[in-house]
Amino acid sequence: MAEFRQEGQLGVERRAMLTGTIGAAAMLGLQACAPASGSRPATLRAPSRRTALVPIRISRDQLIDVKCCIRPLRAAGPNLDVETVGDALVIHNYGHGGSGWSLSWGSADIAVGKALSVLPREIAVVGCGIIGLTTAVMAQRAGLKVTLYARESIQQTRSFRASGSFTPDSRIALAEPAGPAFGELWERMARFSWKAFRTYLGLPGHPVEFGDSYQLSDTPITRREWPADPAITQNFATSGRPQQNSEFGHYSERIRDIVPQAQPLSAEENPFPQPHVRRSSQMIFNFASYAHVMLGEFFERGGQFVMRDFARPADYAALPQKVVINCTGYAARDLWQDKTIIPVRGQTGWLVPQPDAFYSVRYRNVSLTSKRDGIVVMNNNPDMGEMLGVGDSMELPNVADIEKGLEIMAPVFAPGFQAQG
Ligand SMILES: Cc1cc2nc3c(=O)[nH]c(=O)nc-3n(C[C@H](O)[C@H](O)[C@H](O)COP(=O)(O)OP(=O)(O)OC[C@H]3O[C@@H](n4cnc5c(N)ncnc54)[C@H](O)[C@@H]3O)c2cc1C
Repeated sequence: MAEFRQEGQLGVERRAMLTGTIGAAAMLGLQACAPASGSRPATLRAPSRRTALVPIRISRDQLIDVKCCIRPLRAAGPNLDVETVGDALVIHNYGHGGSGWSLSWGSADIAVGKALSVLPREIAVVGCGIIGLTTAVMAQRAGLKVTLYARESIQQTRSFRASGSFTPDSRIALAEPAGPAFGELWERMARFSWKAFRTYLGLPGHPVEFGDSYQLSDTPITRREWPADPAITQNFATSGRPQQNSEFGHYSERIRDIVPQAQPLSAEENPFPQPHVRRSSQMIFNFASYAHVMLGEFFERGGQFVMRDFARPADYAALPQKVVINCTGYAARDLWQDKTIIPVRGQTGWLVPQPDAFYSVRYRNVSLTSKRDGIVVMNNNPDMGEMLGVGDSMELPNVADIEKGLEIMAPVFAPGFQAQG
């Protein structure tokens, strides 16, 4: 059994060989034989063999970028309302919090459905982040001619500064202001999106793929609850922004039947030094190749892209298209004076891509997600939960915070990490 050894702390070159793959292959084989019905064979497991993993190089010199972005949170959930501006019908599609990538198809389906109700032959879409681009392609698939207007290209959008996994109920709404009806809407968007993303699996360039995700802990893993703290007397209703975690809405249980769930690893299977490990499968979006595929379809279907900065809603009425879908994300706060949008700052560090170490790890408050375009590092404050970044619109990166995250993660790949079973 080869053992990975760390020759010091951060900044030291590491080496490990990967030879054993029986555990993962056996697991795949068993899954292929699983019944096609909705029932999940919880007891069907591969024989206990140590999971073979190449260690992730997390030294400081591997850090090649830090990106900062604002999540557009609305207490009631995304704005999908319709209004008229002059003689233009404007359908809004913005305010998707930390779930814009994940809900993009379902949200586009609803917005395009509203546009189709007035039987237009062509429409405008304003904004080419993940919401605008998806909406534009969705409208084309419905037979509409689409012109996409935006003040920047997709690579410059906030969507390109996200982390890129399926997180459909991350800071998407606050439970009370959104109300029970939002749960229904959310479920419709999440299910629609999940199915749409599956059509991109297996394509060259891997625009969408699944990777294993490991949650590690020094103590038994339990679900963290955030009960309301009675000492906090303010809330969204009194202050205009959430004041504690218990105010956020959580909806993921609604789609538990379609999303892989975490399973504990036995001591024999566990390659990490931490004694408690759970593994799940995570849907990942690779931004560059996903945008490439989406833009390819947009232009093949005759789409037009116009770079343009809109100063006010009246500019929408001046467009030749009389049906406009507004996908301006956080920018709608100023452009549409929608002060119900609450900024939620977040940032990601990016390590050099390591395709041979293709898996994600969460340990304490830090996550590493290995993707084709880099290994995403996020350092979240464990005591803040979803409150981290709420009300903060400062969009400059804080590199020291990511460096701290790398230090926290260092013990995971310390001596004791076993590269093969
Ligand atoms: C750190 C971080 C990690 C995240 N990770 C994930 C994740 O893993 N999964 C997930 O689902 N979500 C994630 N999110 C959330 C996700 O990034 C957002 O929900 C999503 O990017 C919103 O997309 P959008 O298209 O609405 O907005 P944007 O990407 O901001 O796009 C807005 C578009 O509008 C255009 N625009 C704006 N103003 C004007 C104007 N005046 N005139 C013309 N054009 C204009 C812009 O040019 C741009 O094209 C994350 C967010 C953060 C901060």
